[in-house]
Amino acid sequence: MRIEQGFHQTPFPLWHPYDTDLVLPQILKRILPADAFQDVSADLERFGRLVNGPIRELNELCSDPKITQYDNWGRRIDKLHTSEGWRELKKLAIKEGLVAIFYERKFGEYSRVWGFAKSFIFQGDSNVVMCPLSMTDGAARVIELLGTADMRARVFPRLTSRDPSQAYISGQWMTERPGGSDVSQTETTATEATHPSELRALGPVYNLDGFKWFSSATDADMAVALARTGDRSLGSRSLSLFLVPMRFPFAGVSLHPQLAHSNNGIEIHRLKNKLGTRLVPTAELSLNATTGFRIGDLNAGVKSITPVLNITRLHSAITSVGCLSRCLSIARAYASVRIVDHGKHLLRDVSVHTATLAKVSLLYRALAHLVFGVVHLLGRVETGVASPAEEARLRLLTAVAKGFAAHKACGGMEECMAALGGEGYMEENIISRLIRDCLVEKIWEGTINVLSLELIRGAHSNPLALKSLAEWSKAIIDSVPPQMERSLSEALSILRISVQYLLSALKPPVSQFVPRPALILFGHVFAALYLLEHSVWSSVNDESEKEIDMECFRRWVVEEGLVEATEEVKRIVGSPEDGGRRTDVDSDIVYGKAKL
Ligand SMILES: Cc1cc2nc3c(=O)[nH]c(=O)nc-3n(C[C@H](O)[C@H](O)[C@H](O)COP(=O)(O)OP(=O)(O)OC[C@H]3O[C@@H](n4cnc5c(N)ncnc54)[C@H](O)[C@@H]3O)c2cc1C
Repeated sequence: MRIEQGFHQTPFPLWHPYDTDLVLPQILKRILPADAFQDVSADLERFGRLVNGPIRELNELCSDPKITQYDNWGRRIDKLHTSEGWRELKKLAIKEGLVAIFYERKFGEYSRVWGFAKSFIFQGDSNVVMCPLSMTDGAARVIELLGTADMRARVFPRLTSRDPSQAYISGQWMTERPGGSDVSQTETTATEATHPSELRALGPVYNLDGFKWFSSATDADMAVALARTGDRSLGSRSLSLFLVPMRFPFAGVSLHPQLAHSNNGIEIHRLKNKLGTRLVPTAELSLNATTGFRIGDLNAGVKSITPVLNITRLHSAITSVGCLSRCLSIARAYASVRIVDHGKHLLRDVSVHTATLAKVSLLYRALAHLVFGVVHLLGRVETGVASPAEEARLRLLTAVAKGFAAHKACGGMEECMAALGGEGYMEENIISRLIRDCLVEKIWEGTINVLSLELIRGAHSNPLALKSLAEWSKAIIDSVPPQMERSLSEALSILRISVQYLLSALKPPVSQFVPRPALILFGHVFAALYLLEHSVWSSVNDESEKEIDMECFRRWVVEEGLVEATEEVKRIVGSPEDGGRRTDVDSDIVYGKAKL
């Protein structure tokens, strides 16, 4: 038989990423004031048409970056080649204000919600272009908060520009060979330098020497970087934060007036050979007398870079959930065209298939509510309208949203892949690439274990944090109207108990086995609370989806792992101290008695 003969599967329709999403419009309708909701929805509808058309076409022009390190005369040139598709996607994201929206603050505390909603519907077709933009967002925030007057005047407007010919992109260099989770062993040093006064205007000038092991935005204009400014024995307490131009001239100043473009002593040692995010030019860099301008106080680098991390972590959570949304959209669309079961039924009418996708959809709803709840909190904190309790809550929930979304999203994406059968495994249908790209969310900006340790530190360093969580969860549960309370009695009682267990498990001293299960339980509980908050709103406002919203809350609590996550924490907290016996047995299980 010739390929043209016989059965041909109708391709699945490409759905508009906002109009056909069952969750995001409802979240925005609840969170945003009515006039902001109208404007934001109109923008997302317009942008969604771009995503569904020209942006998907640009993806076809994307290919892996390459580097030419030497020219034919033996000169070191380190020329980075990125694809046309990648460059155009970046320009488009800048024009659409995917960093600018956050700083124009047109809708005040809701600007974060708008910008992240836009990024969310872009994720599935962005080819990870939001990775450098997320770091640019972080750099803009740190300069807004801690930059010198000159950085704020000359660099900040570029980082937040909508004009691609003016806009700066920033990378972020924390990770070095001794460790990314723990920067206390940082080898890069920074020594104060004397330079012409024009250069000094940007900030205190230093020369940086060292090796940065992961630089994702290598095609950027600048980076924010940690380097050592004091005694190594002080660990992370002798690190400072720097703005490092990738080349000069930068922000109107030249390092070597005789050279048109100086590479600022930065050599690209190698491009990383990665599982996913292959379009992102992640490289290893060596810094040789590289000029950097200190941001913030001397030896306060870790504290200074925290605003960057808080922002990039939320971008990471948005990536996980945005890509899950795209995979789910493909699976739903395919079910509307694929006929199975002796040619009798559309896949969408087969109960077991629908039940599988219902579970993924439920996960998607829970994660989307959790992540946008935290995004809204960030917007409130940044615009100065948050209470101290909300600020304390944000610190904990940022780690939870990033870690829990990364932990859960790829599993849902794998189900979407299987929902297309063999077609799901094909590169053209992009689910495989999205899974590969999203796996990095489990690692960069903090692995799940590292985030869980931070969560515990955050819970203990501010006495308001746990109190605020307790009060907020009580307020949401207490807001349930009586008729809803009757229908949801089982789920509400489970949730109340889980919140109690969680809060008591975090009271010091905390067993070393608690942090990770606690982060997972946190994710379950706070997703449940946000789903409940939404369901109450939906019911009180008589929304057409009110019954589904209630059922989603009920199922998330009763059927989707919250009970098991609570039991796990309960088991650990209830286990008597065994003098390290469990760790010994764990070690035997993993490495064998011979400790291979
Ligand atoms: C694709 C990609 C892009 C990246 N881009 C950048 C970038 O642009 N800029 C940048 O600075 N970094 C970047 N990174 C680096 C990333 O942030 C680090 O890989 C990450 O923070 C982990 O650090 P590490 O690789 O040194 O692993 P390690 O810190 O050595 O961790 C190894 C393992 O040890 C565990 N671990 C570490 N410490 C503890 C502890 N105290 N308790 C329990 N467990 C622990 C971790 O959970 C992990 O499982 C990128 C990474 C990837 C994969």
